[in-house]
Amino acid sequence: MKIIDTHCHLISKAFTTDVEACIIHAQEAGISKMVLACCNETEFPQIIALCNRHPGVLFPSIGIHPEDMAEDIDAQLAATRQLLDGYCLADDGRLVRRLPIGEIGFDLYWDKTRFDDQKRILQQQFDWALTYDLPVLLHIRDAMPQFLEFLRQYIINKKNTANAAPARLRGILHCYSGNVQEAFEAMQLGDFMIGIGGTLTYKNSKVPEVAKAVGLNRIVLETDSPYLAPIPHRGHRNEPAYTADTARFLAELLGISLEEVAETTTRNAEKLLGI
Ligand SMILES: [Zn+2]
Repeated sequence: MKIIDTHCHLISKAFTTDVEACIIHAQEAGISKMVLACCNETEFPQIIALCNRHPGVLFPSIGIHPEDMAEDIDAQLAATRQLLDGYCLADDGRLVRRLPIGEIGFDLYWDKTRFDDQKRILQQQFDWALTYDLPVLLHIRDAMPQFLEFLRQYIINKKNTANAAPARLRGILHCYSGNVQEAFEAMQLGDFMIGIGGTLTYKNSKVPEVAKAVGLNRIVLETDSPYLAPIPHRGHRNEPAYTADTARFLAELLGISLEEVAETTTRNAEKLLGI
């Protein structure tokens, strides 16, 4: 059985002492690949270093999380673009490697005062994704209606400037917390998968309803480690191994086998992310 954790933060301080043990633990639990979400440009070198120690198992991403915006956005975007180009482009400028842009998005839970800045950096990062044909890892917290509105406008603007239908964005709505209708609206506007993790297993969670409505072909699994551990680990540090607990819960919820959940969500993630 192979399962992919499409979103974890293994360079978090929570893993300082035992990240290698956690990777082994995950592989023992059937987690064959893990995607490391990047919250800002300073994390990227550490992410690359860790991924280089585990080729074919750990995969990097690069992006600016809305909560990680610097005061000087232009400087931060320039630094991030330089790292992105350094990773993706050969010396002659040819695109030779891809990775997801993430995690990026809107967060109106913590700080609403810089929403214009959030929009600006998201737009820029969407442009990079389209230019290099990269998937995006989206963090949308308390902002699903605003995100859908933004995406609609983004597509219209692209159409006007390109004078043709723009390439569709593709990616993962990580740790999805919107409702069923919003999920379908997003999937209409772009080729998005619903990222499902520990919150699926929580009491009174709305994620089960979304999971049933969108179906397995639109789902990828994740942990968001070290946050949001699934039951029975809730309240403790989350780690990639626990993706298996969410997979088991999802299998029971959908009335299918664990193998089918593992196979389909792994195929979804591999195809979408190119890993
Ligand atoms: Zn995250």
